[in-house]
Amino acid sequence: MSFVYTAGAARVVFGSGTRQQLADEVRRLGRSRVMVVATPSMRDAAALGAMQVARFDGVAMHTPVAVTHDALGVLRASAADCIVSIGGGSATGLGKALAVRTGLPHIAVPTTYAGSEVTPVLGETDGGEKTTRSDPRIQPATVVYDVELTAGLPVALSVTSGVNAIAHAVEALYSPDANPVTDDLAAQAIRRLAGALPRIVADPADLAARTDALTGAWLAGICLGTAGMGLHHKLCHALGGSFGLPHAEVHTVVLPHAMAFNAAASPGAMRRVADALGARDAPTAMFDLIARLGGPVSLRDLGLAAADIPAVARAATSRQYPNPRPVTAPDVETLLRAAFTGERPA
Ligand code: NAD
Repeated sequence: MSFVYTAGAARVVFGSGTRQQLADEVRRLGRSRVMVVATPSMRDAAALGAMQVARFDGVAMHTPVAVTHDALGVLRASAADCIVSIGGGSATGLGKALAVRTGLPHIAVPTTYAGSEVTPVLGETDGGEKTTRSDPRIQPATVVYDVELTAGLPVALSVTSGVNAIAHAVEALYSPDANPVTDDLAAQAIRRLAGALPRIVADPADLAARTDALTGAWLAGICLGTAGMGLHHKLCHALGGSFGLPHAEVHTVVLPHAMAFNAAASPGAMRRVADALGARDAPTAMFDLIARLGGPVSLRDLGLAAADIPAVARAATSRQYPNPRPVTAPDVETLLRAAFTGERPA
């Protein structure tokens, strides 16, 4: 065995009601003037009192550069010396975009299961084109996980965001960067999320289930931040960034199909996923779990036009990247047609 493992250096504060510790975390960084970047429903959630000198809640999915420039204007006018993002991956993304442009410290308070808060990666869109860069300075300095803030995450979004997190763990298991740390984190992430999501569907306010899901999302996020992702993430990147489809929903539809595509070429990873799901066959078990949870199974239902399938396949295969099974545009088109109609992988 040989591997390279690089860990992110973020400080993580986890619990229920931890937003009350935000001011202490700001002081710990030696800062006192906070700009809050919030998902609209979280605009008043940061308990910062007079420390909060500005707020921006115009966050948008896939971090459009124009929105970042608007937020930069608010930031500069307020002379803030610290950024607190509170919300889903879109809020975290804007916090990262501001932090990397200004050098200010960023405390992320995630309220979905996207995992961006523990990665050094920033995806931004400009003129319909999504570009991604990785830089240690992009990773938030501190992450405050407050389970209570996730209790109101709507069931449908809980399911899709949870599967988005599972996708990070699945692709980490067959990544060329896989190592004993990410393997165990990934297996634990899948087990916790797959166990928690049915309980959340039954009772969205079940804090024990929410705790399991958020823990799983954190672990899956570490996988995303440390191991290179494969075909699944490239496809979702193309479908979301260039075709405007919603991030977590796209991950949910594509994951079983990407797993089926890679299954024969990654038997060890699939065995670990199947074990974590308590099933024999990982791709079909993933599809069945999503269907049971009421999640989306078809790209057509998410608004993809059949005529766009060849262009998506081209976008997802325009650059080479590691994937267990070699990726060609015709094979990816076949995968996309199955995901388009929503058929159960064989
Ligand atoms: P999102 O942040 O856009 O949130 C989706 C919706 O949920 C929004 O309407 C938001 O207002 C709402 N919401 C969020 N938390 C809520 C809560 N607790 N209660 C009620 N409503 C809530 O979606 P997302 O899936 O979290 O993030 C997607 C974005 O994050 C994409 O742009 C994606 O590219 C990016 N992302 C980046 C990375 C990375 O490492 N760079 C990783 C994952 C996702």
